[in-house]
Order: sequence, then C-alpha cells, then structure tokens
Amino acid sequence: MSERKSGESRKLFGTNGIRGIPNELLTFSFCSGIGAAIGSFAKGEIIALARDTRRSGDFVGSAVSAGIMSTGKNVVDLGVIPTPALQLYCKNTGRFGVVITASHNPPQFNGIKCIDSDGTELRSEDEAAIEQLYFSSTFRKSEWTGIGTLLRDHNQGERYVENLVSLVDADRIRSRHFKVVIDTGNGAAYSTSPALLTRLGCRVVSLNSNPDGLFTSRNAEPRPENLAELMQVMKSGRFDLGVAHDGDADRAVFIDEKGNFVEGENTLALVIKHMAGSGDTIVTPVSSSDIIDEVCREKSLNLVKTRVGAPIVARTMIERQARLGGEENGGVIIGDNQYCRDGGMTVAKILDIMAKTGKPLSTLVGELPRYVLLKKSIETEGKPWNKMRKLAVDSFPACRRDETDGLKIFFDEGWALIRPSGTEPIVRVYVNTRDEGDARRLMEKVMGALKH
Ligand code: MG
Repeated sequence: MSERKSGESRKLFGTNGIRGIPNELLTFSFCSGIGAAIGSFAKGEIIALARDTRRSGDFVGSAVSAGIMSTGKNVVDLGVIPTPALQLYCKNTGRFGVVITASHNPPQFNGIKCIDSDGTELRSEDEAAIEQLYFSSTFRKSEWTGIGTLLRDHNQGERYVENLVSLVDADRIRSRHFKVVIDTGNGAAYSTSPALLTRLGCRVVSLNSNPDGLFTSRNAEPRPENLAELMQVMKSGRFDLGVAHDGDADRAVFIDEKGNFVEGENTLALVIKHMAGSGDTIVTPVSSSDIIDEVCREKSLNLVKTRVGAPIVARTMIERQARLGGEENGGVIIGDNQYCRDGGMTVAKILDIMAKTGKPLSTLVGELPRYVLLKKSIETEGKPWNKMRKLAVDSFPACRRDETDGLKIFFDEGWALIRPSGTEPIVRVYVNTRDEGDARRLMEKVMGALKH
C-alpha cells in the first residue's frame, strides 16, 4: 500500500481503501490528487463526503474535497458519521461517496475509501481505474467558472438513526427498558449510537463517547484486550448489554450481562438463527466458524462461502439475493437494510432478538452450537505464497482441501485456513474445531508445518 511513481505494481487501495499516515503517504498533494481522480471517475454532479473522528480528518477531507471540486463537481460534507450512515445516504440519493477513515487502525493513520452510488463499497476494478487516473494525472479540469462548491448537510446521523429504528420492533424493545452500556471508543458513532439506544427506550450509560481523534481512551479495534473497562462495568451485573464499536462503527461487538465478550461469529450466528427464514441464502467468507454452517443446516438455509473481505461478501449477497451475511469480526450485513456492514443496525437487531425471545444475551449465546475459532499470523520472511502453500500441501497430503481463498485443509477434528494477507507480509492461520484443546494442537501442527 505504498505510493509508487513508476512500475506495474501500483497499488494504493487495499482491502479497505487507501490507508496511510497524514503528511507521509497522505500528503496534501496526494489527497487532493486522489480527490481529483475520484471527481474525474465518479458520475453525478454531487459527491458525498463523511469522516470519522480522527485528528487528521479535517485535513484529509478538505484536501480530497478540494481535489473533487477542481473537477467541477460539488461536495456535500456530511460531517462525522459512521461509515454505514454515509452508505445509507449514497443508497438513498444515488450519489457517489467518500469516507475519510482508517477504521480500527491506530490514531496516526487515516484513510480514503470510496462508496459506490448504490451504497456498497467500490469494486476493486473501479478502485484500479481511480488509481490509473491518479498515476496518469488525467484529471477532468474545470474552468474557473465551473469549479465545484462545498455544501453541508449535518442531518444524516439523525436520518440514519431514524432508519434503524424503523427496521426493528421498536415498541417491543422499548417495553423491555433495557439497560445498555455503549463504548463508542471516541469514534464516529459517538452521537448516533447513544441516540439510537435512547430512541429504543434503553437506559443508556456511555463510555468513551466524546469524539476524540487521538483515541486516548482505548484502541479503536473492539477486541477483549481493548475493552477491559466496558467488561468491568458489565461485570457489575447492573446492565443487560454492553456494546463497543470500531473507529468508523461499521462493526459492533457485544458484552453479555455477566461481563463476557461475545465473539463476532456468535453475533452473526444469533442474527442468522433468529432472523433468517427457511430457504434464505446466507453469505460468509471461508474464514467463518462452522457455527454458521451448523445454524444454517439446522434451519435449512443455503450457505454460500466466499473469499475473505466484506465487499466480496456484500457483492455476493446482491448477486445471490441473500438476506444475511457477514464476517467473524463483528461485521454483520443485513440485506433488508443495506448491503454493507452496519454497527448500528447490528445493535438494533441484537436488542430486537433479546426483546423477541425475552432471553438475556448469555442464554442466547449459550444456546448456539459450540466451536472454537483461533487466529494467528506468521511473518512470511520473503517466502512467496506458492512455497508456503506447497509446504502445507506436502505436510498433509491425505487431507481434503478447498482453495476458494488461500488454502483450507480439512482434518478429522476441524479445519485450518492458511491465507496470505492482502496488505502485510504475513500469512494468516485460522483453526476451527469443536474443542479448545484440539484447536490449540491443530494450530501448533499447522504452524509447525509452515516453518519448515
Ligand atoms: Mg470499520
């Protein structure tokens, strides 16, 4: 993901847009150049722009906006809102969008991600077209009389919340008077998620819900190691649900009423179990836990497995007319709403499920099939992927394999997935079994094979 001025392997957009450090990769001229490339590429006269709370958001957003306006397009600035709130705007207006965010990355990073006019993340071939425009500097250049203008619309957060409330049984949720602790991690949902919970009649306690682009309270990745404070509060036993978002709030993770972290695959499994109807199609990447397979089998659902990456899952959902999909990291996609991960929507749906069943979250999770999904990564140390693949194939020659993405190997006790990262010189190893001891042993066996 580095800027190269020549050569064939020019690649700026990674799996989640362009990421970099302001004034390093993301210089003023780079950002305005990308803005000009976006303005030259996108259809329509108005392009929507939103951002998360990062310290450099005004800087990167202003530079990208200036670049867009140089091509004669207007920019409508939606301010600080979650990424899915921008996606909803794009879907409803048919406008192309740009979000300035580095999601869960450390605070020094920022990023530029494009949203297509149907609200989905931009296809990689369209990102490549924007890169091509950038590197060749073949921008549309407006006469001075036609330079774009900057419009502002700061009501999208409210529209987003309104839409979420309309998609659940709000009266039933309100009748339960849930007590909820929300930790927005100083990120983009600092205003929308507390507002959503209030609108759903919850008693809301906010943690880290002041916008702070330095993320001084906690790391923006909502993993248990970063949520000690929220888990501590939940352990008091005084609350029904704990919620935490990543920096741009396209994801939500949950803490049950006893203070236990609920893994993302369990959240996805709960949504599928309680929302899908017989015959529905569900889409997940090959890295998803077998818990999803089992829930789909129990409910006679069609399960489609894809390569890893939320945009791929979302596109496949559109093609297959799937109602539900998502990843194991807390990214849930609900097709009735929009074809993207949506942290606020996930919160609303989990409350809807709790209200409908009348059961606490720990009970709902306890009713799910049990699987263990472990993840590790190893440095490739310059070893090409085909060598790593051969090591794995040669170590387990008798095992069944699937190569939808990387190499998935099926063992008696479960499976292991080995796949090269799209952005870093590492290989990710996933192991899925029913038993924790089996998972650890299988992980050791696979890691050992790859180190030869
Ligand atoms: Mg995110």
